[in-house]
Amino acid sequence: MAHADLVILGGGSGGYACALRASELGLSVILIDKDKLGGTCLHRGCIPTKALLHAAEVADSARESEQFGVNASLHGIDMIKVNEYRDGVVGRLYKGLQGLVKSRNVTFVEGAGRLVGPNTVEVNGEQYTGTHVVLATGSYARTLPGLEIGGRIMTSDQALNLDYVPARTIVLGGGVIGVEFASVWKSFGAEVTIIEGLPRLVPNEDEACSKALERAFRKRGINFSTGVRFASATQDDNGVHVTLEDGKTFDADVLLVAVGRGPNATGMGFEEQGVAMERGWVLVDERLRTNIPSIFAVGDITPGLQLAHRGFQHGIFVSEEIAGLRPMVIADINIPRVTYCEPEIGSVGMTEVEAKAAHGDAAITTYEYNLGGNGKSQILGTAGFIKLVQLKDGPVIGIHMVGSRIGEQIGEAQLIVNWEAHPEDVANLIHAHPTQNEAMGEAHLALAGKPLHAHA
Ligand SMILES: Cc1cc2nc3c(=O)[nH]c(=O)nc-3n(C[C@H](O)[C@H](O)[C@H](O)COP(=O)(O)OP(=O)(O)OC[C@H]3O[C@@H](n4cnc5c(N)ncnc54)[C@H](O)[C@@H]3O)c2cc1C
Repeated sequence: MAHADLVILGGGSGGYACALRASELGLSVILIDKDKLGGTCLHRGCIPTKALLHAAEVADSARESEQFGVNASLHGIDMIKVNEYRDGVVGRLYKGLQGLVKSRNVTFVEGAGRLVGPNTVEVNGEQYTGTHVVLATGSYARTLPGLEIGGRIMTSDQALNLDYVPARTIVLGGGVIGVEFASVWKSFGAEVTIIEGLPRLVPNEDEACSKALERAFRKRGINFSTGVRFASATQDDNGVHVTLEDGKTFDADVLLVAVGRGPNATGMGFEEQGVAMERGWVLVDERLRTNIPSIFAVGDITPGLQLAHRGFQHGIFVSEEIAGLRPMVIADINIPRVTYCEPEIGSVGMTEVEAKAAHGDAAITTYEYNLGGNGKSQILGTAGFIKLVQLKDGPVIGIHMVGSRIGEQIGEAQLIVNWEAHPEDVANLIHAHPTQNEAMGEAHLALAGKPLHAHA
């Protein structure tokens, strides 16, 4: 029986970050995964989808080149080559990660693990005990009752591996994954229709972002239906046929089901060992401890945002907690979020509606800086804005942005919100010209009462 300070079940973003930080702190680590080190993010999530989105941007640049006086033309999309490019990116990162884990003396065990005691995980008949056990088994793509995945009906797992561009696509779900695939497929030349049961696309974002995205998608020719729920889907040789609750029907070659991800936490002994769970999620306190003192849980199996960098932060947090460093808790609301469709959305902190609900309408000030006044955005030819939500005479508690490449501004945005900066603090700092980052400075200048390239 092997023993370590930490036994980590799951080697995705949360699990491997925990392993790397623990080993830095001098703790011994056994890291278990039944599949490839790196998990969803590296192999089926963030990285491969962003590679597709980059290829999509290249296609758009070729298609729109004439408007910049460049005579290029788009002859088509070779999905085999796009996939090779994507796999090259994933492969290099995977190799790097394997090397990193090895160099930190983490023991990697390949196989499906099962929790068999408060300190013990069993893999391939072997028992591994840890002074602490960290559960990090991630999430899976959900579907709806009666909507079976197979053939033309797929989740992001299958959609990522298509070796052709479908001519007509329906995307069920207008959340992050749905709008990203819709954006890629449109750029690759497909006809795209998004079906979202809630009244707007990206319904978790500030309403202003939804409106701007819907306007931009309309301009791009991406069709969408909002506010009416999906009823059923059938498939045959001619395609897939979707019906909504109001009787409206849509036909396409493929249907992407992007209705969210559920926790992958059942059937692995968690319940039998008495780990407190709710609707499949592993419950943790703010220090990521489960109800069993020796067991922590990180990443997508815990209720909250499903993001790779949240998993990284959870993993680092747990290692530091175990090492007695008492790390700082970061509330989910202050975790930066980026949606990488065209145009991008970046946000951190409270939306206007959330802020008003928490603090009262009178306590909140908002300001929207239009990218129309930003030189770099004009050069790129993008529309959008940076919207600030401020506690009156206090810190900025929410930043919401839309525009091509605007996701890159999330770094400063999250610093401002997490550092509880006031507009005057940011207004005194210098933002380089001509960058989109300048728009961040301009928005804060305006809110501090001294707008430069904006009307007072
Ligand atoms: C299409 C898509 C795009 C995404 N894009 C982004 C993005 O741009 N940015 C972002 O921040 N997030 C993105 N995400 C979300 C991100 O991938 C996840 O939040 C992140 O991977 C969660 O990390 P995790 O460690 O909790 O779980 P995972 O990465 O899912 O890792 C869990 C690991 O546990 C292993 N495992 C499960 N059960 C067992 C078992 N019994 N025994 C052994 N091993 C087991 C699995 O094999 C897996 O490797 C995206 C997700 C998808 C699907």
